[in-house]
Amino acid sequence: MRCILLIVVTLAVMFARPAAGQEAPATWKAGAAAIVITPPEPMWMAGYAGRDKPAEGKLTDLWAKALVLEDGAGQRAVLVTLDLVGIGRDVSQSICQRLEQQHGFERRQIALCVSHTHTGPVVGRNLGPMHYVRLDDTHRAAVDRYTDFLEDQVAAAVTEALAKRAPAKVAWGSGSATFAVNRRNNSEPRVPELRAEGALRGPVDYDVPVLAVRDGAGTLTALVFGYACHATVLSFYQWSGDYPGFAQMELEKAHPGCVALFWAGCGADQNPLPRRTVEKAQEYGAQLAASVNRVVDGVMQSIPPSLNTNYREIPLPLAPLPSREEIARDTQSDNPYVASRARTLLQQLEAGPLNATYPYPVQCWRLGDEVQWVFLGGEVVVDYAVRLKAELQGRRTWCAGYSNDVMAYIPSRRVLAEGGYEGASSMIYYGLPTVWAPELEDTIVAEAQRQANPPVETSPAAAHELEE
Ligand SMILES: [Zn+2]
Repeated sequence: MRCILLIVVTLAVMFARPAAGQEAPATWKAGAAAIVITPPEPMWMAGYAGRDKPAEGKLTDLWAKALVLEDGAGQRAVLVTLDLVGIGRDVSQSICQRLEQQHGFERRQIALCVSHTHTGPVVGRNLGPMHYVRLDDTHRAAVDRYTDFLEDQVAAAVTEALAKRAPAKVAWGSGSATFAVNRRNNSEPRVPELRAEGALRGPVDYDVPVLAVRDGAGTLTALVFGYACHATVLSFYQWSGDYPGFAQMELEKAHPGCVALFWAGCGADQNPLPRRTVEKAQEYGAQLAASVNRVVDGVMQSIPPSLNTNYREIPLPLAPLPSREEIARDTQSDNPYVASRARTLLQQLEAGPLNATYPYPVQCWRLGDEVQWVFLGGEVVVDYAVRLKAELQGRRTWCAGYSNDVMAYIPSRRVLAEGGYEGASSMIYYGLPTVWAPELEDTIVAEAQRQANPPVETSPAAAHELEE
């Protein structure tokens, strides 16, 4: 009897397994989730120096969204997008530690991106000198409560996305949208006239990269898209996702059940112009969603299920540091932001010398052999996207800014030399002691090159490519 049972079991196992050479093709698994992160209580808004009171209401909700991707070999990554101005290194580390403890994600497998909406809340100590100069203890306590709430919500979104993982097909395409204007090289009041004349000056990055995730039935379950332009249409006292929020809402309405995730590109020197009305925010959101939909409705390139994730923090050099005497003098400055930064720097000096470098995050993911996705920290100017897309060969390059830690503006060598807000004065609002050193651009690009361009190998998924 035992012998017959053994034969039956053996036969069952033999027939259950495909014959050699006919293994079931490896497949992506994907899961996406969205959760509201609109502040549950009145609190201060982030992004503009001139704010003088907390938010007064809500135009649209703010969202944290998570997309978990798992390749044919079980390699995972999670993309988190947030309708926020920015997050600092401390919040980023705290979220990543939690995702590691709860779900085993390594740092390289987590990308945290923000939309840079300027109608979102203050988070942690990000942009400290800009905001803390106006916040009393009550408002600071509200910021701390919100930051805890945010971390809880992100963890919940990732847990849900993991739970929803199911076999999926992943494809990419690229559209374009033209409402971004280089704000350093065009006068804002003259933009309508310059646009009509075709006389707007760049550089710009009009690309709208799209990643589409579909379930076994071909239904869209997630759309990931990016655009290199500040989310600064709105500057009022209502919570809103600005144009990226409207674009995500439009796509989720058009594709029921789909989670739309937006990441900001290297648009630190780009503004959506003209601006300042809700209608304009809706209009640019609709333009962006229409561009994504044209990509989705067209022929997209299938991505075989292989995933490669990298992350490294590099010591990004600052210019020579100010002396203690110079900082002490700044505490008496008429400029409240300069004085606020100086007070913070003096506190830091109590603990030891200031750092001459900043641990700057560079992250690169490769999806199949098709797409290399570079995530850069800070407010990155468009020159980086132009350069990386030209120099990183072999695959389509996507460049996200505002990723993992928004610690400062990241000017190119050109913008640093030119100075101005993006090159110099914005460092005050972020609390860094001085401007970057000229070698920052080459240092960042070299690290992106190192991560993105190892020799192209034949991945386990390569054979599957033919079947897609
Ligand atoms: Zn900005």
